[in-house]
Amino acid sequence: MSLLRRNSVLLLCFFLLSVAAFCEHTHTYTDLPRSLIIELPQKLELESDSLEVRLRCTGWRVAGEANNLSPWKTIPEECVDYVKEYMLGPSYQLELQLVSDEAARYASSVDLNEYEDGMDAWIFDIDETLLSNLPYYAQHAYGSEIFDHNQFDKWVIEGMASAIEPSLKLYNEVLRLGFKIFLLTGRSEDKRDITVDNLIKAGFQKWDRLILRGAEDHGKTAVAFKSEKRKEIVEEGFRIHGNTGDQWSDLIGSFISVKSFKLSNPMYYIS
Ligand SMILES: [Mg+2]
Repeated sequence: MSLLRRNSVLLLCFFLLSVAAFCEHTHTYTDLPRSLIIELPQKLELESDSLEVRLRCTGWRVAGEANNLSPWKTIPEECVDYVKEYMLGPSYQLELQLVSDEAARYASSVDLNEYEDGMDAWIFDIDETLLSNLPYYAQHAYGSEIFDHNQFDKWVIEGMASAIEPSLKLYNEVLRLGFKIFLLTGRSEDKRDITVDNLIKAGFQKWDRLILRGAEDHGKTAVAFKSEKRKEIVEEGFRIHGNTGDQWSDLIGSFISVKSFKLSNPMYYIS
C-alpha cells in the first residue's frame, strides 16, 4: 500500500511537471515577438509585358543616373517610349525641380561674407542643364539614334533651345546671392555668338565667364577639358562652391566643386 501510494505520488508529480513544462513551452512560444522572417512572393507577378519593359527601363535609367552604365552610346531600343514619356511627362520636371531646390538650399547656406573678395563661384553646364535640346532629341528618337554632330550643330545654330525652368530659377538665385557664374560647356568656340544669343533669349541675362572648347581642346574628353578649365578657375583664386550639370563628366575629375548637382538626362551620355 505504501509502495502504491508512493508510486501514485511519483506519477502525479511527473504529470504535474509535464503539464508545467508544456505550459512553459507554450507560454514562451506565444510570447515571442512576431517572426522576423519576411516572406517574399515566390515570383514577381507582372501584369503585362509592357510593365516588365517599364521596370527594366526604370532600372536602366536609374543605373545610368548613378553612373553605373558608362559608357553608353544609345538608349536601349525597348526604352524609347519609356524615355519619351519620362521626358515629356511630369517626372523629369519634378526631378529637376528637386535637385535645383537642393542646390538653392546649399547655395543659400554658403557664407559669402567670409572673405568678401568676390571669388565665390558656381559653375553651370549649358546643354540639358540651362538649355533644353528636347525638340532635337524628339526628332531623333530620344537618344536611340547614334549621336550625329553635324545634325546637332544645325539645331544649335538655330538658337532655339528653351530654358530649363528649374535651372533658370536656381541660376537667378545663385546670381542674386552674389556668386560669380561660370558657364562651362562642351560647345565649341565657333558657337559662342549663337550660344550667347540663345542664353539671353531663354532668360539667362548675366554671367561672369562663358568657357567653350577652343581649338586646343578638341579631342579631349569632357572630363579632361572641364577639369582643366576648373583648374584654371581655381588657380585664379576662385572657390568653386557649386557645379550643376546633366553629365557626370561635368562634375567629376579634378578641381571639383564643394557640392555637385547632377540633373537627370536619360537621352545621352558624354564621357
Ligand atoms: Mg550638358
